[in-house]
Amino acid sequence: MTKYDYDLFTIGAGSGGVRASRLASSYGAKVGVAEEFRVGGTCVIRGCVPKKYLVYASEYGHGFQDAKGYGWSADNVSFDWSKLIANKDAEIDRLNGIYIRNLKNAGADIFQSRATIKDAHTVHLEAENRDVTAERILVAVGGAPWVDETVPGHELGITSNEAFHLEELPKHVVVAGGGYIAIEFACIFKGLGADVCLVYRGEDILRYFDADVSTQVHKEMQRQGIRVITQAVFDKIEKLDGDQKRLHLSTGVHIDTDCVFWAVGRKPVTQGLGLENAGVETDKNGAIKVNDQSQSSVPSIFAVGDVTDRVNLTPVAIREGAAFAETFYNNNPTETDYRFIPKAVFSQPPVGSVGYAEHEARHEFKNVDIYKTEFRSMKHILTESGERVLMKIVVDGDTDRVLGCHIVGEYSAEMIQCIAIAVKAGLKKKDFDDTVALHPTIAEELVTLKTKFLPSSSDTP
Ligand code: NDP
Repeated sequence: MTKYDYDLFTIGAGSGGVRASRLASSYGAKVGVAEEFRVGGTCVIRGCVPKKYLVYASEYGHGFQDAKGYGWSADNVSFDWSKLIANKDAEIDRLNGIYIRNLKNAGADIFQSRATIKDAHTVHLEAENRDVTAERILVAVGGAPWVDETVPGHELGITSNEAFHLEELPKHVVVAGGGYIAIEFACIFKGLGADVCLVYRGEDILRYFDADVSTQVHKEMQRQGIRVITQAVFDKIEKLDGDQKRLHLSTGVHIDTDCVFWAVGRKPVTQGLGLENAGVETDKNGAIKVNDQSQSSVPSIFAVGDVTDRVNLTPVAIREGAAFAETFYNNNPTETDYRFIPKAVFSQPPVGSVGYAEHEARHEFKNVDIYKTEFRSMKHILTESGERVLMKIVVDGDTDRVLGCHIVGEYSAEMIQCIAIAVKAGLKKKDFDDTVALHPTIAEELVTLKTKFLPSSSDTP
């Protein structure tokens, strides 16, 4: 019999922690899980899932306009923010219940408590004011929105956490940031009817993506009336009358608004977790340093998901949690494969992306072929929307292997999940060409792109 209370004690019941705990428990381990907020974690409670509901709601804003081109009258539509939030909350409650049930059914003990680490095998449960011991501790506490606290009045702004529970839809929103959350929420608020301004510190939003994707999303946001200000940051936020705030930008301009939204990144929530009590090493952002087995510098303490700041995506945290459980509780050593992870930004239109961006491919491969097209989709021929689709395929010119695929356009997230199978499997451009097109679809362009894109003289340095 083990000398510990638990074989595994998991801190944080988000995607990674729940998957690891459920699997370990199903393999016979005695598992305890502590969660200080709500079981389900960021993705289910205040991330991917509620965000997608807001995206769906927002898309109707464009849909009603587009419908006119197809003969529908949609002049007197109205939108009820409280109803959307209530419906969304009911679904989140349902999912929260399922997550709790799944953990319990797997045999895990759940503690509604903040948990901190006391030493390499001991966790302190604050709500119960007692310690529990475990052979292994898994830290899966995730991340939280980061706000630049050096900006005077920063506390007048909200983050994605609060955005899901606003009492009213803001009339005017200014978003700071140019990453996933900034772009997604800027589009959500715009589609729901707010005036939106996005303030980004650099030149190209979504700068981690292929440059053509970044340009296309920028153009599409501007086309739908989102004001995009680049090379600027928030300098100061002042409170005016009522809900109004005056936002001063580094460029000297000021904007009056009823909603300031911080989306300038997320940080692992390791502060106050007691990691130093056991000697767990973290990086400068507070992320727990781990090896390929998700093991920290302390052999009995492991970490998965955003708290490790590897690839901060739910399905990756789930993989990491599963790999940990397989390795240590099912005698099946497993590592997470980080290559060719499909990614989507739920902007409007959305981005789907997998594999190498053009600049990454040019850095690593000698000969890179680019195939790309930009067009108005069939649907929008009859609407007044000027929305356009971008598709780009990046190919290793020496082996013909497809290295990456990037799409901006309706259904791109759905498409890229399927394309990712082909790209991960190492298929060649010839395999794409040999596949018969499915007509009429947007996706058929992926198998009909025959001409290599040659940069014009103005594109070359
Ligand atoms: P991101 O890292 O995507 O974006 C942060 C943005 O804030 C960047 O544009 C960054 O600029 C900017 N920024 C950083 N520091 C400052 C600063 N001091 N002042 C002004 N701007 C600043 O983070 P998000 O918070 O948007 O998302 C966090 C993570 O969550 C993502 O990386 C992603 O992994 C995940 N996520 C995934 C989603 C999805 O899959 N659809 C949706 C939402 C989140 P710069 O680019 O110049 O560094």
